[in-house]
Amino acid sequence: MKTYNINEAKNVQYLTSPSLDSYNEIFHCFTTKIGGVSKGCYESLNLGLGTDDDIQNVLENYHILAKDIGIEAGDFVTSFQTHTKNIRIVTSIDKGKGVTKERDYRDVDGLITNEKNIALVTTHADCVPLFFYDPVSKVVGIAHSGWKGTLYKIAEEMINKFVQDYNSNPSDILVCIGPSLCQDCFEVDVDVKDMFLNENQHYGEYMYHIGKKSYIDLWSINEYILINNGVKKENIDNMNICTKCNMDKFFSHRGQHGKRGIMAAVIMLKGK
Ligand SMILES: [Zn+2]
Repeated sequence: MKTYNINEAKNVQYLTSPSLDSYNEIFHCFTTKIGGVSKGCYESLNLGLGTDDDIQNVLENYHILAKDIGIEAGDFVTSFQTHTKNIRIVTSIDKGKGVTKERDYRDVDGLITNEKNIALVTTHADCVPLFFYDPVSKVVGIAHSGWKGTLYKIAEEMINKFVQDYNSNPSDILVCIGPSLCQDCFEVDVDVKDMFLNENQHYGEYMYHIGKKSYIDLWSINEYILINNGVKKENIDNMNICTKCNMDKFFSHRGQHGKRGIMAAVIMLKGK
């Protein structure tokens, strides 16, 4: 079965989930590095607001993306990622923050809204993107779940927000795991391995070890957390593509030794 679709717009190329693609009332995508104006290690669609790239190029890249996906740059609302499990409830007051106006918040690694025409954005270069959509309560969410976010269970935090703030039933929520490090590419030392095992012994099932190095499957741990919080296994879709194994398409923090641009995960409820 196909785990992702590749979409070619005028300039940019992006991936979507075949299962979320079947819902016409939402738009979602994970950008590739193709189609922007940045140079050097940021070539070319760098959407990282916190990188050392020329900020004018980054903002232009957001404008290129907006045009290609048929929205206004002022429809974006970006996260302010610091590896927390904090999730911001977004309303129309936030529109444009990070792109056409300053963000007045920080330490936000997840975004959620039930308002239309707000394009929620988290940014990634190896860390796991999680897309959320509840087609019953009509709510979308997006999260940055790197190894710390996975350890802190931002996926659980997001499901809690759907339930508490939007009255969702977890069994209705669809989740897509986007491009990020595969297990073989997420090599860690004893300290990180122990943090995961101390959090939950069961996580040992999602690791293997070679000498002093361990290899952790963050995709499966996120899936485990989601299922434990009432999400149905059949409602979790994994694009199953690694950023580091596919550096022709993606920026990779590990693959480029930290000198890299950043891709965006976007989700939006469409309509008036
Ligand atoms: Zn890989």
